[in-house]
Amino acid sequence: MHVDENTYSFDEFLKARDEYNDFLDNEFLQLAAKHYIKDEWEQLYEKIKTLSEETSFHYRHIANEISKIENQPKIEHYNAYNKRVDRIIRTKQQADMEEDLFKRALFSKETSKWEQVLSRFLFHHNGEAGIMCPVACTDGLVDILRTFEHELNDELKEILRHVTEGIDGDFGIGAQFMTEIQGGSNIPANVLKAVKAGDHWRLYGSKFFCSAIHADYSVVTARVDNTEHVGTFIVPLWKTRERKERNHLVINRLKSKLGTTELASAEVIFNGAKAYQIGPLEKGVAIAVGIVLTKSRLDIGAASSAFMLRAVREALQYSQFREVFGRRIEDFPLAKGQLLDMEHTAKRTTAAVFKIYDEFFKQENWYHKQLSEEEKKRQFVLRELILLQKIKAAHDTVDTVRTAISIFGGNGVIEDFSSLPRLFRDAMVNELWEGPKNVLLAQIHRDIKRASKWYEPKAFIKDLLEGVDGQIVERFQERMQSLMDIDLYAEPNEQTIRDAKEWARFCDELFYEYQEQAWKEIGDAPIVKTYSFKKQL
Ligand SMILES: Cc1cc2nc3c(=O)[nH]c(=O)nc-3n(C[C@H](O)[C@H](O)[C@H](O)COP(=O)(O)OP(=O)(O)OC[C@H]3O[C@@H](n4cnc5c(N)ncnc54)[C@H](O)[C@@H]3O)c2cc1C
Repeated sequence: MHVDENTYSFDEFLKARDEYNDFLDNEFLQLAAKHYIKDEWEQLYEKIKTLSEETSFHYRHIANEISKIENQPKIEHYNAYNKRVDRIIRTKQQADMEEDLFKRALFSKETSKWEQVLSRFLFHHNGEAGIMCPVACTDGLVDILRTFEHELNDELKEILRHVTEGIDGDFGIGAQFMTEIQGGSNIPANVLKAVKAGDHWRLYGSKFFCSAIHADYSVVTARVDNTEHVGTFIVPLWKTRERKERNHLVINRLKSKLGTTELASAEVIFNGAKAYQIGPLEKGVAIAVGIVLTKSRLDIGAASSAFMLRAVREALQYSQFREVFGRRIEDFPLAKGQLLDMEHTAKRTTAAVFKIYDEFFKQENWYHKQLSEEEKKRQFVLRELILLQKIKAAHDTVDTVRTAISIFGGNGVIEDFSSLPRLFRDAMVNELWEGPKNVLLAQIHRDIKRASKWYEPKAFIKDLLEGVDGQIVERFQERMQSLMDIDLYAEPNEQTIRDAKEWARFCDELFYEYQEQAWKEIGDAPIVKTYSFKKQL
């Protein structure tokens, strides 16, 4: 009889991988967070330490479980009594995880901004998991409600209370529906109609990408009947808080997606859904993009950083454990180069995420403020940084997770060997939602050109790259000057294609310098320790 005498085992690697605490064992993450959190650090440290035990050792496992095909969300269109319900069916594990996260009252006035950011950051290590999109959307919903807090009617005040402080222990969840079938990049081209009905509005038409459709409320953009305006509205997705009957809307179907498969994303028809106006109708697009999408784009920066930290540390651990031709993977120069590059990318991304959040918090509550010249410039720099970060961090994550997968060889693409395939697919989605790369590149160019009347592009570059070597800054300033007059909307020909490519390269390199500077300001520390794994064969 032949027996398998191969005693090869992954046990040592699995032990190191699974015992890794995403916060306590990541000295670099702690360094970055501490650098910006400052006075609050000691108090926050204990809370985040406790949360990290849960996200690293409990929810990491749950996130893997719920991603299995059999656990993905489904829709029940009708109940047994022929009543249309359009209820999303999810596993109890997923619903519990979401409830736990929301019960942390992330958006309460009692919760500090940094606690909110760090808590979400730890959950992001486990991928989108069907919960991180709803959190980002709720963040945007809260911001828009707070921005117009002085003019909210009773219903909107109640919604704000539900999503921030909770009602009887139940916390409201937000969504955001802007994309229509004819295109998501061009929100001003929305055709879903809003019709005035007394002190509120009724919506008629469809939205083509509606994630977190299980949520309680959504920010919805809609064309105001008989006008050219696209307004922003808050729409309860259910008639009552018991979530039994939909608010005059039907869900056609759930989308089958490459990534974020744990999240229900729907195609929806509004048949007179009750809606509340928020902010001035003629500024709907600016409000939706400037307040709501800005928050989601910031969140994509943080998600990208957490995905990368997770992928890189697992690749580093594997490369120390796994032997090929009698040597550890990390002992080959080809692999070592990739590992160093990945670690570098994860660190510069993380450093920039914290730096941008820090500036964002300093500028909070500026919406209604009469800004000085200097403040107006700072606000502009931040706006562009958030767009640049969305492009670069999301793009780099796909590259980094792909390289991490390749370090694992064939095992890298095996769904139940690691979470990397899932993170890779989620990273692909992060590149697209909240604005694909080309849309944002065009936006940045338009912004700088428009602002050039009151903000010299040279001065803008200097301010954005504050702290960077003068010669490097000058080179960017010169390139910016020569790119000012390119036309990203011209007919494609040899020249315009070259210009467009140079613009994309310029933005990429500009934000890279910003990230490098952010990293320099923080200092360095390891993501994983050096292990002493036994020789395997
Ligand atoms: C998983 C998932 C979930 C989503 N959930 C939501 C949601 O909950 N709510 C919501 O509102 N939306 C949602 N979206 C939609 C998402 O925001 C849109 O897909 C995105 O805004 C792009 O719109 P589009 O897909 O219609 O692409 P289009 O607008 O058709 O764009 C197609 C291509 O044209 C390019 N393009 C556009 N403008 C320019 C330009 N000026 N120059 C060069 N190229 C350009 C784009 O970069 C893109 O490559 C979701 C998307 C995904 C993938």
